[in-house]
Amino acid sequence: MKICVLPGDGIGVEIVAQALRVLDVFKSEGMKIETEHALLGGCAVDAAGSPYPEATQNIARAADAVLLGAVGGPQWDNNPRPLRPERGLLGIRKDLNLFANLRPAVLYPELANASTLKPEVVSGLDIMIVRELTGDIYFGEPRGITVENGKRVGRNTMIYSEDEIRRIGRVAFKAAQKRNKKVCSVDKMNVLETTQLWRDVMIEIAPEYPDVELSHMLVDNAAMQLVRNPKQFDVMVTGNIFGDILSDEASMLTGSIGMLPSASLDENNKGMYEPCHGSAPDIAGKNLANPLATILSVSMMLRYTFNDEVAAGRIDAAVKKVLAAGYRTGDIYEPGTKKVSCSEMGDQVVAAL
Ligand code: NAD
Repeated sequence: MKICVLPGDGIGVEIVAQALRVLDVFKSEGMKIETEHALLGGCAVDAAGSPYPEATQNIARAADAVLLGAVGGPQWDNNPRPLRPERGLLGIRKDLNLFANLRPAVLYPELANASTLKPEVVSGLDIMIVRELTGDIYFGEPRGITVENGKRVGRNTMIYSEDEIRRIGRVAFKAAQKRNKKVCSVDKMNVLETTQLWRDVMIEIAPEYPDVELSHMLVDNAAMQLVRNPKQFDVMVTGNIFGDILSDEASMLTGSIGMLPSASLDENNKGMYEPCHGSAPDIAGKNLANPLATILSVSMMLRYTFNDEVAAGRIDAAVKKVLAAGYRTGDIYEPGTKKVSCSEMGDQVVAAL
């Protein structure tokens, strides 16, 4: 298993260090893991003059999976756009053709108070949003602002080919096979032809996965159902723009950004795994960050790229055990629990493993 490690900026360095300790446990048990570090983001701009330098490109392309911390920080905010850390992120996603974004939203019963919703609505929540990442209105042509008859007109094009829909649909069905075997496809077929095609193609591929139940929901209803009764969902699959909005809505059901991992996959299950949060400059370098989102990203890596459900399940169980034992970093701390640093949280997960 060749893993390209990109700690990035800010807390990225601290949280990735803890995630690597988890991988070391598996290594010590004989799992064949090779890691190679490279630079991405602001640190890469400083050291190599580019947010996604050629050396990083070579290592990332040769790897089976990429583990990323986070990029960005105020010291680079005024750089010209090509030298902004976020350009590195977009660059690597495009370069590796990562078209499928998987974002689980899991609410551990111990953290139910962190959500703004009532505990009974969210406690035990475990859903997965599968978002198409490289198509849709964000990339469709024609686009732009033009002047027509003396008035400015803004235009974007919502477009999906059946191949694009089929490949993201298959990712969702396969993810559901590893979970509770339900896919809810979200569209706006009552108004948008692009999404009528989306629904048609989802129905066409469903028979390839007879063990998975397919349902459909209009996006406006899906937004509502996510806050009304989110536990009705297992896997939700949708296009780029609807997924952008719904995945943020879903992740906030949990209330704790330091707990949320993500995966972005290509057609061969090569993936980039990263926490959903940013580089948290306000707490960087203080050993305060919550490393669990990054540790859970390693679990996703083992599950989705390396197909090792057992190892992934062990990480998930270790995180649950540590939370049940009352260990909390500052972001999820409540009176009556034990406050630990970033590295102490790593110690606890390693011990639980
Ligand atoms: P952020 O996610 O970095 O931080 C938001 C808040 O959440 C902060 O108060 C931070 O301390 C807290 N937080 C985030 N992760 C945490 C963790 N693991 N443990 C404890 N607390 C945590 O978002 P921001 O402040 O808007 O952005 C900071 C920088 O990160 C910016 O430069 C932004 O561009 C970048 N960013 C990068 C990514 C990425 O690398 N994928 C994503 C979002 C933002």
